[in-house]
Amino acid sequence: MKKSVRKAVIAGNWKMNKNRAEAKNLIEELKPLVADAGCDVIICVPYTNLETALELTKGTNIKVGAENCHWAKSGAFTGEISAEMLTEMGVEYVIIGHSERRQYFGETDATVNKRVRAALDAGLKVILCVGELLEQRELGITEEICAMQTKVALGGVTEQELKNIIIAYEPVWAIGTGKTATSDQADEVNGYIRSVVAKLYGDAAAEAMTIQYGGSMNAKNAEELLSKEHVDGGLIGGASLKAPDFAAIVSAASK
Ligand code: PEP
Repeated sequence: MKKSVRKAVIAGNWKMNKNRAEAKNLIEELKPLVADAGCDVIICVPYTNLETALELTKGTNIKVGAENCHWAKSGAFTGEISAEMLTEMGVEYVIIGHSERRQYFGETDATVNKRVRAALDAGLKVILCVGELLEQRELGITEEICAMQTKVALGGVTEQELKNIIIAYEPVWAIGTGKTATSDQADEVNGYIRSVVAKLYGDAAAEAMTIQYGGSMNAKNAEELLSKEHVDGGLIGGASLKAPDFAAIVSAASK
């Protein structure tokens, strides 16, 4: 399967931004701008904005995701939200393993795997983030890191379940820094991750898989990044907070 047959997916990651009124304004502004998108459009929003996002996107082409979920169904996990709580609301997607979770909240490959499993079991679609730190790139171990993160995260995931997973390659040094990977760097690592998936699940499953790039993708660099064979979309942080910028990326992915 060639890139031309894989559907591009552009997902916004709002992180810990936007109060309810701001979320409402952003979604209302975004709706007409992406109504004719030729790619899938997802907004992943803080838990407190999920209800607003679900309500305002009803009947539109914008899908809604959360930014994390816990692996247990319920229990003594103060401050956490289970995958079932998300599906009960109507949430369709969840980001798992974002580097900010790994960096600031002690997320490990093993807990990423538990969260992936729980999300799939609850019927959520997963945007699984993997990517190397700057020191790791400088040591020349980008491939090893991405392979390990991918393999551990996918532990126990069947080929059928893999259809509900998108991988986002996000070099940590490029997230929120304004330093984008070059389109060749993004293509190279995305292609490598696809080869890791191929070894685990076979060529057909790997070829069908959407692998996004994330890390300072914006309205200006999106077209070049998205033109690459293995870059099937983007996970967008900063630029997803402004409707015209996010819409420009959606339109670059729709070409
Ligand atoms: C992200 O949060 O996943 C991200 C890629 O952020 P930014 O686009 O701001 O670098």
